Formats: sequence, structure tokens, C-alpha cells
Amino acid sequence: MEKDIMNRRKNDRKINFKDNRGRKIVYVSCCLLNQNAQSPGIAGRKGAFNELIQMFLDNDIGIEQLPCMECRLWGGVSRKTIHTFQPLVLNSVGRAWFPFVEFCSNIETGKTKRACRKEAKKVVKRIQDYVMEGYTIIGILGVNGSPTCGVTKTLNYIDMAKNKNKLDITLQDLMNPQLEKMIEIEQKARINGSGFFFSALIDELKRRKLDLTVEGIDLLSKPQEEVERIADLLGMKV
Ligand code: SF4
Repeated sequence: MEKDIMNRRKNDRKINFKDNRGRKIVYVSCCLLNQNAQSPGIAGRKGAFNELIQMFLDNDIGIEQLPCMECRLWGGVSRKTIHTFQPLVLNSVGRAWFPFVEFCSNIETGKTKRACRKEAKKVVKRIQDYVMEGYTIIGILGVNGSPTCGVTKTLNYIDMAKNKNKLDITLQDLMNPQLEKMIEIEQKARINGSGFFFSALIDELKRRKLDLTVEGIDLLSKPQEEVERIADLLGMKV
């Protein structure tokens, strides 16, 4: 199937156009451009991660915004599903019915993974189109520490509930999340691995044999240091 598409592309008549496009594109997680999409209590900025986005603008890089899968799947911008379910999970830890709650949670996780795989296929198909038409995808940037867009660091909500005492998570923290406390919890709760959407993206890139840079932005690091690290990685000027 992939071979067919490649062969068809080779035989396609190329449009000989001339305009000002730079043919360089970066893909970024939704909330790097729009912090309003972040989970309640964890947005550190009013709008975008300005310094990072400014660097792309200054380097004439086109920006594609990935969908926020948490907003889509977990009850919109307020994550209503998670905020209803998480207190229940937290309260069930150590009780006789916890295995049942964990079972239900695994079913929901399965649904999230399937939806992320479906969306990843669509995104990577579009990336492949760019690549085959001679454009350069300079990178795909996720958000480390996110259960969905994490690249090398992610979170597992069930494990967090199981470790609620060690992580010092209370019901109050979940019902009324506050930035400072959320940062503290996230720093302690991060685990190695990719989030649901980015692990699906990475798998789909591999499946289509697209060797692209996928990197996690650490929103808890010092912004300027993080921008310099990414500039270095992607070969750009700050
Ligand atoms: S990290 Fe991903 S899932 Fe989380 S708010 Fe940002 S775009 Fe949405």
C-alpha cells in the first residue's frame, strides 16, 4: 500500500510553482501555542510559550498545531471526565473495590489509546505528504510530563493515586488544582516513557519509515535554557 503511494507520487506530474514559502515546518503540541488548552491548574502562561514560538517565527518556520487529545477525549478544556473520575480513584485506593475501579480505568485507557492511534495516523499521513513533496519537517514537539503528549517523561494517573501518600496528593488538590501544588506533584510523579498520543505518533512514524526528530519540551525548566536546547537540537538561531 505504502509502496503504491510512493510509486504513484514518483509518476505524478509536479506543479512547477514559485512563491515565497520556506518549506520548513515544525509540529507542536496544541498547548505550546495555546496554554488555555492545558489541564486546569497547570497552565504556566497566559497564551503561548512565547519564547519558543518566537524562535520559530524568527527562523521563518511554519507551525502546525497538533490536536489536544485530552480536550477531545477527557471532557473538554475542563477535563470534566478526569475531574469526576480521579477523586473516585483516589478514594478507592486500599479499599476492596479498588481492583474494579482499576479495571474500569483500564477500559478508559484502552479507548484513549485507540482514539490516539486513529488521530496519529491522520497526522502522520499529512506529515508524509509534506515530506514526499519536498518539505522539511524540522521536528515534532510534545510536552514532557503530559500523560498524552509526553515524549520521554509522562504520568500515570492510577500509579499516582496508588502513591498518593508519597506524592502528597489530597482530594482537595484534585478538586481545586492550584499551579504551585500541581507543579510540585508533577515533578515527583513523572515517570519515564511517552504519553498516549505521542507514543502512537512515534509508532506511526516508524511504521511509515519517517525518521524525524521528536522531542519533549519541559515546561517546568527555565524557559530560555529550554529554548536554547531546542534551537541547538533543531539547528536554529535563537
Ligand atoms: S500536553 Fe497535549 S494533551 Fe496536554 S494540554 Fe498540551 S496539547 Fe493537550
